[in-house]
Amino acid sequence: VTTDAEPALTQDLVALLRSGGRRVTSPRLAILRELRQAGGHVSAHHVYQRVRPELPGISVPTVYATLELLVELGLARRVEAGARATLYDSRTDPHGHAVCRRCGAVADIPASVEEEPLLRAAQGDGFRAESAELLVRGLCCACR
Ligand SMILES: [Zn+2]
Ligand SMILES: [Zn+2]
Repeated sequence: VTTDAEPALTQDLVALLRSGGRRVTSPRLAILRELRQAGGHVSAHHVYQRVRPELPGISVPTVYATLELLVELGLARRVEAGARATLYDSRTDPHGHAVCRRCGAVADIPASVEEEPLLRAAQGDGFRAESAELLVRGLCCACR
């Protein structure tokens, strides 16, 4: 992969992969580009369908693994919005999510939880608290 032609959209990924001694590959760059271009909150399957024309050999498990790598590198957030598929968010600044309990639509909300007190409160019975996030359930405007 030549990175000279890669747009600014994925330059931070190239730098992170290189500094971590990982390979810069076309699927990694294409999946991050797609996640950022899509905006909002998308499933691995959605990303898979969007990158498939460009990467005919790509598989759903590879897309999943790559999205998880982006989460690990701090370039994406995983949003567990209920029974539906895990969603991925290219916005990594602190924010909460409003989830429609009928259609599953997810919207960003400009609020977040104070993690520390919650994590402390959850440490009991040997539970190791790792993260806390704000999820508000309700009905979206179309479902009301
Ligand atoms: Zn809805
Ligand atoms: Zn979000």
